Amino acid sequence: YHAKKNRNEYQSYKPEMNHEAYDRLRLESDLRQGLEQEQFTLAYQPLVNLCTGSIVGVEALVRWQHPQRGLLPPGEFIPLTEDNGLILPLGEWVLRAACQQNKAWQDAGLPPMMMSVNLSMRQFRQHRLAERIESILEQTGMPPQYLELEITESMTSDSDIASGILSELKAIGVQISIDDFGTGYSSLGNLKKFPVDKLKIDRSFVTDMTKDGSDAAMITTITSLARHLNLKVTAEGVETDEQIRLLREGNCEEAQGFYFSKPIPANMFESWYRHRSQTA
Ligand code: C2E
Ligand code: MG
Ligand code: MG
Ligand code: MG
Repeated sequence: YHAKKNRNEYQSYKPEMNHEAYDRLRLESDLRQGLEQEQFTLAYQPLVNLCTGSIVGVEALVRWQHPQRGLLPPGEFIPLTEDNGLILPLGEWVLRAACQQNKAWQDAGLPPMMMSVNLSMRQFRQHRLAERIESILEQTGMPPQYLELEITESMTSDSDIASGILSELKAIGVQISIDDFGTGYSSLGNLKKFPVDKLKIDRSFVTDMTKDGSDAAMITTITSLARHLNLKVTAEGVETDEQIRLLREGNCEEAQGFYFSKPIPANMFESWYRHRSQTA
């Protein structure tokens, strides 16, 4: 356990910090047990084409069914797994489960769909990542072109390392997208040389788009940047009709958000999908 960066905070809250340190250790041992006992599940959220209204894919989002604390969102445990390295086995579990599910949906007669999976920094830098992913694809029978790996701008800050990893990933045939785009500091020069396929516009720009003119401008700027670089673009966190209208006006091709569906369990997604295609 390491002390907080802010020394004053550490000194003035020492008893509470001990409590925090204890919670952290507890959570860590729960995580190990959770991995052994497969207490994790994936929720799926659709990505929708704004021109045709069709579902182009889903994003897999991990949840933890904690035996005492209930269903925990990723924000409550992913950061700790990134610190202690458990993100590597957890991330591998997520990839395998997502690929298995995609294959199962195709076998059940759903049209082919993209499956997006988030990668963390540590996973991105993991030794032989591309080989590991390739063997998961082979084991699950999932066609590589349907797997989309989401990275963040911060993972591209060392552009030589990132280029190498991204080329290896592209070589196995998967798609790459940049998540939460616009919140980091990626250089446009790098963006041009990286083999990425898609930009996902961060939810914060979409949320304020209808109130704040500069956020609306961000959307059109990212959309035209994507078009010039020949990349696809998805808006995240879409909740209202007004946002949909503005996104269409700004030529944004794809969207994801509570407007269409919250992230839901696999069986619910399947019935949601079937119902939607019947009524469309
Ligand atoms: P993300 O990849 O940007 O995922 C989108 C997040 O926004 C999800 O939160 C989703 O529930 C939420 N969201 C989607 N549409 C809306 C909307 O219309 N309104 C609002 N308010 N929120 C919306 P979630 O599931 O809590 O995940 C949070 C973050 O945790 C993800 O952000 C991702 O960075 C990370 N994460 C999730 N699953 C994994 C995983 O398997 N591995 C790793 N490394 N990170 C993961
Ligand atoms: Mg994501
Ligand atoms: Mg993210
Ligand atoms: Mg995001």
